[in-house]
Parts: sequence; C-alpha cells; structure tokens
Amino acid sequence: MPDVFADLVGQDEAVDTLRRAAAAASAVLRAAAVTPPTDGAGDGFDALAEESADAQPAAAVDAGAGMTHAWIFTGPPGSGRSVAARAFAAALQCAYGTGCGECPGCHTTMTGTHADVRMVVPEGLSIGVNEMRALVLRAASTPSGGRWQVVVISDADRLTEAAGNALLKAIEEPPPRTVFLLCAPSTHPDDISVTIRSRCRVVPLGQPAPEAVAEVLARRDGVAPDVARWAAAAAQGHVGRARRLARDPEARKRREAVLAVPRRLTGVGAAFDAASALIEAAEAEAEASVAEADAAERAALETALGAGGTGRGAAGAIRGAAGQLKDLEKRQKSRATRAQRDALDRALVDLAGFYRDALTMALRAPVAPVHTDTAALAEAGAQKWDAEGALRRLEAVLECRAAIEANVKPRIAVEAMMLSLWKG
Ligand SMILES: [Zn+2]
Repeated sequence: MPDVFADLVGQDEAVDTLRRAAAAASAVLRAAAVTPPTDGAGDGFDALAEESADAQPAAAVDAGAGMTHAWIFTGPPGSGRSVAARAFAAALQCAYGTGCGECPGCHTTMTGTHADVRMVVPEGLSIGVNEMRALVLRAASTPSGGRWQVVVISDADRLTEAAGNALLKAIEEPPPRTVFLLCAPSTHPDDISVTIRSRCRVVPLGQPAPEAVAEVLARRDGVAPDVARWAAAAAQGHVGRARRLARDPEARKRREAVLAVPRRLTGVGAAFDAASALIEAAEAEAEASVAEADAAERAALETALGAGGTGRGAAGAIRGAAGQLKDLEKRQKSRATRAQRDALDRALVDLAGFYRDALTMALRAPVAPVHTDTAALAEAGAQKWDAEGALRRLEAVLECRAAIEANVKPRIAVEAMMLSLWKG
C-alpha cells in the first residue's frame, strides 16, 4: 500500500520537507503525552522549541526539520498544491506520524471524513469573511482525535481582504494544536498578503516533468503507457488535466476543438466565429460541471425549508425561505462564473501550447512538442510565420489570459486575441 505522499508527482524535495515536519509534529505530541502541560499552552510547537533551546536556537529548529502552525503550498496550477496539503494533513493525523496510508487517521483524512481536518474549497470567486470566521472558531477547538486540528484552504489567493484579516488573526495567535495549510499559486502579494506570508513556512512545488506524470497515470490509474505519455505532454505538467485527457473522451473532444482554432482563422468573420465557439464551449463545459451540484443543493434546501408548507407561521417561513434561496442562487452564480473562467483558461493554455510548439520549431529548439497530434500543423505555422510571428501569436494568447484574470469581459478579450492570431 503506497503512503499518503504517493500521489504527489515529481515533488521529491517538498515530500522530504513534509515527512520531516510530520515526524517533528509527532514528537511534539509524544513529548506532551509524557509531560502534560499545566496551563494548556505548552503542548504546541513552542514546547518543542523550548525543549531544543539548549541544543540549538528555536529558529534553527523551525527552519530545519521542525514543524510550524502555518504553511503555504505554492506552485503552478496542477502541480499538486492541494494534493500536497491533504497528504500532509493525513501525515499529521497518522497514528505512526509518517502518513502510512493505512491507519484510520490517514485513511479518513484522504477520504475527507476526518473530524479534525477541514478542507475549504471556495466555490465562488472568493472566500468570504463569515465563512472564515466560522472556520477559525471551529479550528480553535481541541482536536477530537487527540492530534491536530488541520484547516486546509485550497485557494487562499481567493480570500477576500476581510477574510484574510480574520485568518491572519488566527495565524498570529494560533491555538496550540491547530495547523493552517494554505494553497496559492505563488507568494506574490497579489496572491497572499505580505503579513500572512511572513507568518507561514512556504513549500514550493514545481511543474512536474511529463515523465513523472505519465508514470503515475500508468501506475495508479492503469492508463496504457503510450496514452499516458501523450496525455502528460498535452497537459503540460497539470496532473489532474492529464488524467482527464487520458480517461474522458469529452475532455479529448474539447481539446481537439480548441486545437482546430488556428487552422480555422481564415478571415475577420472566421476569427469572430472562433471566438464565439470558444466562449460557448467554455460555458457549456462549465454548465455541465455545476448543473448536478446546483440541482442537488436546491433540492436539499427546499426539503429543509419544507417546501409547500401551509398553516400558522408559513408566511414568515416563506419570507425567510425566499431569502435563503436567493442566497443559494447568488452562490451558485458565482460558482458558475468561476467554472466558466477555469474552462476558458484550460482552452487558452492548450492554445498557448500550440503556438509555443510553432515557436520552438521555428527556432529549431531541441524540445519535445506539447501537442504531438498537431505537431505537423505547428510545423506548417512555423514555416509560414517564422519565430517572430509565432511569438507574437503566443503573446496574444497569454495577453488574453492576463486580461481575463484582470476582469476584462471574456468575449472581448477572446475576440481581440482571435484577431491577433489571424493577423499575426
Ligand atoms: Zn497512517
């Protein structure tokens, strides 16, 4: 049975850090069990630091094999930030302190049912302050399993400013047995506030090599080796995307439609058509991904509110219910917007891969193409456009991503991009 870190592909250094930290955390628990603290404050990491103080300064313990209350996992999308955070949470709850993958602590954390591990996955565009306050409050309670209270915030860059401040307070004065694991693309101030950053230890994850991604697809998911290699290259280091491409025919179809864009750009009208098609495909993909959850949530809320009730108090209940339904609709709309942006971004990354291939071919750079199945088309583009033209097109795609990230209306950004791709 593989341990909890087995799914963290191509991140040896980070895994090493996390294993040592989990062992140190376990040592803290053992020390606390031997000498029960009198005031309840000594069973955290401070105890470890004090204990080691005569041997080496506390700072050295922290920077080395030690454990700390707040962590940030950074890396590009698909590098495994939330996978790393979940594995580390499991190792903290592991009965052996190793993340064995077999004990109840490991197992329940990995399946998302551990009572002391809370995974926060923002469904809308940001995590609000009320959600964060409730979370911080619950995280301060004594762990029921006797180990740690772990809070994983999978998109910490989507915290609102107020939510960030609520979190900062908790990180500044952490309850002795609480650990915060944040995931963000980077430690840039746009992603994580400088003050939160200064309180956290950073675990940087890199983009895993295609070989490592292909290996795990073949080993764990039983994907045929040649398909695994193709999917790993096409997904450009995004492990989850590689798995979807290997296993989901719909995902493959959507990718093919995106990669057909370059040869469809024959004029202004075609450029606008291609923009519409790309936007609509992203909308359809997003709708399919959230429709089921939306319907289930609405049905659950209606049941909870006793839809169709009459009699005394029903009028007041209906007024309250209308408010709750409105709230739910607002949350669902925000989630749909996020899903649409994510779908569109995946399409743009695929498209960028194509023009990157054309560029490397024009430069005769000795690197493997991202999209082996459109390599001939990229080669034709390389000859027609030269390196400069390929680079301009690649930049147009990247500019479109940046514009959408900066809240430019997606249709406007995509239309501008398509015109640049056509004109060059
Ligand atoms: Zn275990």
